[in-house]
Amino acid sequence: MPSTSSPDLPPDAAPDLFQKESAALVKARAVHAAADADAHVYRESLGELIDHFERLMRDTRRLIGRSDRAEREMQALATQLEHRASHDALTGVLNRSAVIERTGKMLRTNSAVMIVLDIDEFKRINDDFGHPTGDAVILGVVDCLRRIVGERGFIGRVGGEEFTVLLPGHDPSSAALLAERMREAISDSLIVPPVDRRITASFGISNNEAGAGFDTAYALADAALYRAKRGGRNRVEFADR
Ligand code: GH3
Ligand code: MG
Ligand code: MG
Repeated sequence: MPSTSSPDLPPDAAPDLFQKESAALVKARAVHAAADADAHVYRESLGELIDHFERLMRDTRRLIGRSDRAEREMQALATQLEHRASHDALTGVLNRSAVIERTGKMLRTNSAVMIVLDIDEFKRINDDFGHPTGDAVILGVVDCLRRIVGERGFIGRVGGEEFTVLLPGHDPSSAALLAERMREAISDSLIVPPVDRRITASFGISNNEAGAGFDTAYALADAALYRAKRGGRNRVEFADR
């Protein structure tokens, strides 16, 4: 790097970063202006310029590399922060505020089916096997949802053990089949040791025309979920509307 300190400068002056290079340039200009300068004086000045030029190129390359690296790191950090702000830390699915935002945006222009599900008797799982096992059950349920929903829609965690699945433009009967598959996947194949009882969830579904908001879509699906709970749990209910 060019020298950064200058013993001749007053203490409050900004240091001339290119002091040595500037001196070499002044000298080269003087040699260039003197038409009768000696060949060896030309050579010496040119040699100095080459040294400085090469050093500047080296330093510039290094600085560009460093700034590219810093930019990449900043971008990765921004992406990470954005992801953290909109996703649930435990499961990686959308968090509540992201679900509200996405659903609202989606429903402005599209119809969409909303499925709300809640794990059955979850408090007992926590009480009997501990909170970490409860967390493992939540992760297992999300795994089941992911496998079945795939690219069809967005999974979100709107409460402790309550999730939404938003299916844009889906017809109600195929959404009901999909919810049934999710219910089955959880109750028939989800095993989380040391939980020694069947893990199940209840589902409520609402079908929403474009123009409906998150609150309406959620309230309808939640009312259906409540019916599924009252009806004995481990079942899928459709909003009556
Ligand atoms: P129901 O079948 O009626 O849904 O019964 P439930 O026992 O599941 O009742 P409820 O939905 O009210 O229970 C939610 C429990 O979930 C209470 C709370 O302690 C627990 N919980 C909330 N968030 C978390 C979490 O992140 N991890 C764990 N392990 N437990 C959580
Ligand atoms: Mg529950
Ligand atoms: Mg709940």
